[in-house]
Amino acid sequence: LRIGLIDFGNQKMPNLALMKLSAYHKSQGDRVMLGDFLPSQVDRVYCSVLFSWDRREASKLAGIYPNIEFGGTGWDIHKKLPLEIEAMAPDFSLYSADYLYGRLKGIRDANKRLEKADMLVKAGIGRTDTGCSRKCPHCLVPKAEGDLRKVNSLASILNPASNNLLLLNNNLTAQTDCLDLLDEIRDRNIRVSITQGVDVREVTPEIAKALSRVKLLGRQLHYSWDYPQHEGIIFQGIRVLSEFVGTWKQMCYCLVGYNTTWEEDVFRFRKLTENGIDPYIMLYNKGDGTPDARLRHFSRWVNARIYKTCPDFEQYRNWSKVKSLYENTHPMLLPV
Ligand code: SF4
Repeated sequence: LRIGLIDFGNQKMPNLALMKLSAYHKSQGDRVMLGDFLPSQVDRVYCSVLFSWDRREASKLAGIYPNIEFGGTGWDIHKKLPLEIEAMAPDFSLYSADYLYGRLKGIRDANKRLEKADMLVKAGIGRTDTGCSRKCPHCLVPKAEGDLRKVNSLASILNPASNNLLLLNNNLTAQTDCLDLLDEIRDRNIRVSITQGVDVREVTPEIAKALSRVKLLGRQLHYSWDYPQHEGIIFQGIRVLSEFVGTWKQMCYCLVGYNTTWEEDVFRFRKLTENGIDPYIMLYNKGDGTPDARLRHFSRWVNARIYKTCPDFEQYRNWSKVKSLYENTHPMLLPV
């Protein structure tokens, strides 16, 4: 068979499910293509949709490819790969550096972009554990994956082409074997990207020390402060972590547009910067069109570090322009 794979959206990282599908079909003697292909070039197509806001656009592909099957958390959080395919080691040859280069548009310097694309294709990717021990109401992980549990060994998700690893575990610091895993990462001299961040509430002095000993891919270790009422426990964790990992190496994601007020959003931003920690604003369901223009501009002002040169958000040009436009035309649409 001729198999076509579509990685829908603009994800920067290789798609693990597609890599497993590719490995499976190649093991059956099928030919596999990723990306653009004509309907006449393929017998069956799989399309992975990671975000729900891409669903509608992706579904139009059904009009082009009659034998298409959709999957991914953005399509159906309950749909899983068949066990036989889930158990496959990923096909590390599926993505090329050229393919990923085209997706890394945020990196302006061509050499750095190429370097990153090359690193990504040679990196190991996967999770040793799936699920999560928490049940944060905004998060799909507990619904899609259930409780935290072991699924793979570290060795099985490494790519022989390099010692880099994109670790997809949802809650590394809550795993009972967290210390052993971090030690194994260090002993194998792996440079790891903890792509889903750590749960700073679970960080003990031992975990903080072990985290400080692993080589990180990228500059910072990140964690989240999604709910303002968790301030006490989050900062307790930050204090423990900071004994071993400098605050300049930490980044904290803050969920906005879910169930927090503007004052709570600004408060978290201020509190983090006052403590020397880089904040990063995460818009809830951004692709569904978060209606609040102020939050969209706030996220840009924070995430692009514009606040460092323009400390007063109300003076931030892009926002003040939009604000005066609204004031003149639709004052009722302005946030109160
Ligand atoms: S800790 Fe993270 S992965 Fe777990 S439920 Fe909360 S947001 Fe989701």
